[in-house]
Amino acid sequence: MMQFIDELTGIAGADCILQNESMKKHTTFRVGGPADYYVTVDTREKLRDVILLCRRERVSFYILGNGSNLLVSDKGIRGVVINTSTKLNRVTVEGTRITAEAGCNLAKVAREALNAELTGMEFAAGIPGTLGGAVVMNAGAYGSDISHIITEATVLTIDGEFIRLSKDALELGYRTSCIERNKYIVIEAVFELKKGKRAEIASYMEELAARRREKQPLEYPSAGSTFKRPEGYFAGKLIEDSGLSGFRVGGASVSTKHCGFVINDKEGTAGDILELCNKISEVVRDRFGVGLEMEIKKIGDF
Ligand SMILES: Cc1cc2nc3c(=O)[nH]c(=O)nc-3n(C[C@H](O)[C@H](O)[C@H](O)COP(=O)(O)OP(=O)(O)OC[C@H]3O[C@@H](n4cnc5c(N)ncnc54)[C@H](O)[C@@H]3O)c2cc1C
Repeated sequence: MMQFIDELTGIAGADCILQNESMKKHTTFRVGGPADYYVTVDTREKLRDVILLCRRERVSFYILGNGSNLLVSDKGIRGVVINTSTKLNRVTVEGTRITAEAGCNLAKVAREALNAELTGMEFAAGIPGTLGGAVVMNAGAYGSDISHIITEATVLTIDGEFIRLSKDALELGYRTSCIERNKYIVIEAVFELKKGKRAEIASYMEELAARRREKQPLEYPSAGSTFKRPEGYFAGKLIEDSGLSGFRVGGASVSTKHCGFVINDKEGTAGDILELCNKISEVVRDRFGVGLEMEIKKIGDF
């Protein structure tokens, strides 16, 4: 193991590696035990080298964006968590095209679009994730999603190759893409937007932000919508109609403001959250015969 740490340090630099780092600090749910190694990389080549090292030494690794769609186990994560969000975050605008690196905050990309008077990215301004996480999830809101604007992405394969994938090759669907299935790592993506008017773009962003503040429990730790939308239904409505508004397990509860959100309002654990999610699914299935699938990704041993 000492040799592994030495090599990891050689690639990332000693000040970019934390040991036993609590994942509470890196997830919007504010839960999760320690990651053995938490590594921040500042170039795509370092990212590749860390992955190749982990593969060679059979150490598991996990790519972290902003942790806004994650439920990390209270036992933490064995192996290496690779943080992309701090340094891999360059954005460039050329005409109507925006190219952004994976670690870039979506709100920042949306702001750059606004500054360049480009329309199409407004839906993303309030999604608290990175661009990489958004491509993986085909994140979306208010009738749009990443698939509406992306033209291509550069990904890293687990064999250490950088390849470009067209929009079609990304197989973007409702909160899915081929990225996870193929164990790709998003490095960068290109978006094609349309020329718009600054005042209109700004006002639409403000309108969407106001709708979020009004409808979503943004004042509490959460990971956004807990469950995917089952075909023909809305998860939040099914949960509300099951009488589960405010239902609680330990420190986690179903938001009374929006039943589609599980919130960590009383310093709950990942165990509380998962148990609550399981109970919600059970009740909704018994009541309506509809299966709920979690949109949130579970990481580590539960
Ligand atoms: C208050 C709130 C509101 C939200 N609203 C919305 C919404 O309106 N619409 C919506 O779609 N989502 C929403 N979300 C959920 C979340 O913000 C999105 O899913 C977001 O795209 C996740 O990005 P992230 O960087 O936080 O990814 P993470 O949570 O860090 O990771 C998510 C998954 O992507 C993987 N991943 C991350 N980066 C990369 C990369 N570079 N390469 C390969 N894999 C990677 C991770 O390994 C993990 O499997 C909301 C969340 C919160 C807390």
